[in-house]
Amino acid sequence: MTHTHVAGAIHGDVTTRGPVWLQPPSDVNQLVDHLWSSEVTKTADGELSVAGVTVSDLAARVGTPALVVDEADLRSRARSFVDAFTGWDVFYAGKSFLSVAIATWVADEGLFLDVCSGGELAVALRAGVDPLKIGMHGNNKSDEELHQALDAGVGRLIVDSADEIERLSVISAERDARPGVLVRVTAGVEAHTHEYIATAREDQKFGIPITGGAALDALLRCHTDEHLNLLGIHSHIGSQIFDAEGFDVAGRRTLRLHAQFAEQTGYEMPEFDMGGGFGIAYTTQDSPATPYELAEQMRHIVESECKSLGVAVPRVSIEPGRAISGPAAFMLYRVGTVKTVPLDGGQARVYIAVDGGMSDNIRTALYGAEYSATLANRRSSAPPVLSRVVGKHCESGDIVVRDEFLPADVRRGDLIAVPASGAYSRSMASNYNHVPRPPVVSVADGKISMLLRRETVEDLLSHDVGQVPWGTGDGPELPGR
Ligand SMILES: *Cc1c(COP(=O)(O)O)cnc(C)c1O
Repeated sequence: MTHTHVAGAIHGDVTTRGPVWLQPPSDVNQLVDHLWSSEVTKTADGELSVAGVTVSDLAARVGTPALVVDEADLRSRARSFVDAFTGWDVFYAGKSFLSVAIATWVADEGLFLDVCSGGELAVALRAGVDPLKIGMHGNNKSDEELHQALDAGVGRLIVDSADEIERLSVISAERDARPGVLVRVTAGVEAHTHEYIATAREDQKFGIPITGGAALDALLRCHTDEHLNLLGIHSHIGSQIFDAEGFDVAGRRTLRLHAQFAEQTGYEMPEFDMGGGFGIAYTTQDSPATPYELAEQMRHIVESECKSLGVAVPRVSIEPGRAISGPAAFMLYRVGTVKTVPLDGGQARVYIAVDGGMSDNIRTALYGAEYSATLANRRSSAPPVLSRVVGKHCESGDIVVRDEFLPADVRRGDLIAVPASGAYSRSMASNYNHVPRPPVVSVADGKISMLLRRETVEDLLSHDVGQVPWGTGDGPELPGR
């Protein structure tokens, strides 16, 4: 399946037909089941409900906007990766969506956890995650972050540059530590949806290139350092990947390096990390593989390549983030204003403005990401019209859902829900326009729990100390330097 780009307003019939992949629904009240988490349904009167709690009830008690996590669904997605990849280690990529509760859930379900900053590490530690089951990423870890990782005793550090290897070597020697390290390499493969691009080189900030021998040098450097415990190679090839073809090319290139290193040193590294990036369905056009399909294909890649290279199969790990956190949550907004904007050719576009936007989910503005939406608080008998759900920020690119068919009678006070909103929404949220960040709540068995409380304007003002002369000691404490 190929991916067709969304046409802009300049394309003739976009406002009546929408982008090519978007079909008008036969019943605008009907949920497209595979876009929603497992405990979400619509009640007999057309209201969205999750694990037995209706969105009106949620909105009344929690307020809007709010990010609503289906706990059973998130846990079951985490568990299905562990089941599908039995014998491999599954690291949840915390950067996709992290809180103390979420870290606790994934650890409960048998996953390991990846973090990529001192802040994410602090959340993992507060959740009581076993430090040996934590991996620490980052292309520019500070010395302080390296110390934090060593203080915590994280199981593995994924080193990303020759410079970092030198710094870690010095710090580990000072502390007489010997952390486990994986070397992040670039294999020249960039994967996305059903496509991948394979080149000899990569022009990006992450990793150490295999081409030209830099990755082999980095491995040798780690191996000969008595204060570094070289565990293996790490490779991460992209995001929103729907099948295993990119992993095939990158996995084989990377395993060749693994075998070359073994031949040169006599040391077969015990581990091998294939990264994350497994895709999810945001809209009806998306058709990701299941964890079981991916597991079968990825096992085959590793086993067949190791066999042909004559090396033992290392312990493999993967790092799903979005595929666990994304589909498990929806964003709930309340409609403020609805505008019909006339376009050329007698057409019009309906703009539905909600009480959040790019500050709680920047993916549409940042990447042109596509989402879906439904009218969540009631059934409608109005015809579907092509609509655009926008936010409340002072930016015309502040779009939440670029194209969706919603009932023509959506009005102020209605609730709109956006499925598959768990990943890279809260974790990339901002306070643009001094808008406090919405709460994150979870729902399970008819009960609502608070995970992250709603920010208040007072929270934001508490950072703003006015103007305090530096070093006078008269003002409020000034943390940091
Ligand atoms: C972002 C990232 C992941 C997770 O990506 P998803 O698309 O959320 O699965 C895994 N590993 C690394 C190294 C990453 O940078």
